[in-house]
Amino acid sequence: MGDFFMIETLIRPLEKTCQTVLGILENKCQRCGAIVDLDNRDGYGQLYCRECLAFGKITEKTTLFRYERIIARKAHTLILPFTLSKKQNEASRFVVNCLNQKQIGFLHAVCGAGKTEILYAGMLDTLKKGERICFAIPRRDIVNDIVLRLKSVFPNSVIKPLHANAKDDDNADIVVSTIHQLIRYYHEFDVIILDEIDAFPFRGDPLLHRLVKKALTIDGVSFLMSATIDSELAQRIHRGLIKTFTISARFHGQSLDIPQIINVMELNTIIQKDHNLPAVIIKWLNYQQNNQIQVLMFVPTIKYGILLTETLRLKGFLATFVSSKSNDTTDVIGHFRKAKWNVLVTTTILERGVTFSNVAVAVMATDNQIFDIDTLVQICGRVGRSWEFPHGEIVYFCEEKTTAIIKSIRYIKKMNRQGKREGLLNNGMPNLR
Ligand SMILES: [Zn+2]
Repeated sequence: MGDFFMIETLIRPLEKTCQTVLGILENKCQRCGAIVDLDNRDGYGQLYCRECLAFGKITEKTTLFRYERIIARKAHTLILPFTLSKKQNEASRFVVNCLNQKQIGFLHAVCGAGKTEILYAGMLDTLKKGERICFAIPRRDIVNDIVLRLKSVFPNSVIKPLHANAKDDDNADIVVSTIHQLIRYYHEFDVIILDEIDAFPFRGDPLLHRLVKKALTIDGVSFLMSATIDSELAQRIHRGLIKTFTISARFHGQSLDIPQIINVMELNTIIQKDHNLPAVIIKWLNYQQNNQIQVLMFVPTIKYGILLTETLRLKGFLATFVSSKSNDTTDVIGHFRKAKWNVLVTTTILERGVTFSNVAVAVMATDNQIFDIDTLVQICGRVGRSWEFPHGEIVYFCEEKTTAIIKSIRYIKKMNRQGKREGLLNNGMPNLR
């Protein structure tokens, strides 16, 4: 292991040593690893790759420059402002062992188990060996958040964000990146931590899986994290390809809250056509408001969210809306935290990665197909995330029960049973760490 790794990009200053490689070699795209169909030819008759077209066209005549990224050696330190619980410590040792043994590991942890904190010891070991780490997450809006958290515990290490609007990875020991940005790297990272592997778009996208493989050094290893296990992952675990560690309880040792199902006849007609709110929902919102609890209302579509927000305002609720189309998501979240709004209507954009102290959650039209089991489990994980407020109400408002609704509740109950069996739940007593 040395300090010489290759980075691949089309636009880099030429002061560093570099290797060049043709964009497509023997029908294989050298940037994304796709096999290029011989019929994929542009107007000049040149072979080009369709799979990574979104990153700029690459043809058999394109030259890729692979540059060394030289990182200064430094003394890395870890400052933990808290102690880990017994279970978190066990998980932490699991991470250390996986990374040392170059074995793919999977941390299966319920929402609010403190996953990131569990990684720190393993990350420190890696940094001390002079190896480099990429923390890859599916969603850009969480990248900066993770960078800040890592900077606060690794004060001597260089940690940089990488996403569509941030491309500076100079001298970074840890790069926190969206998975798409891994396209810039070739055999670069010794460790890639893949957070939220159950999330869109990573799940089921072969291109992103290839990019991870390409960005890893020859003997590099990835470490996976998620709250749920999909069938593909279950198979890999079953075949012994991945070592697993499960944490079935949250860091505060209180059980996960079970969603309540409230059937509302013609819910979607009332909201989308009549521009009204069913009495049961108004009553529920008033109850939360009277108890100074803020509400997150998850909606299936942007149109639904806009309509619902308008209606909520007409009914006198301080409500606002965020979606993937919002430019001011960070500001809106900040204002919600400062209690400028009582109700935050949101698409699944806030299903993960955000923490509010004292909230209740309503899932509107839970029977909509967008709410699959992984999404619902994540949404349920938004309540009870702090020591002060370890519980919160979750209500599924729907016209009928779907398989996802039933399975998400079954999953949460199963995790609670497991947590209890392992002695991780302290039945309302303060958690003695
Ligand atoms: Zn390609």
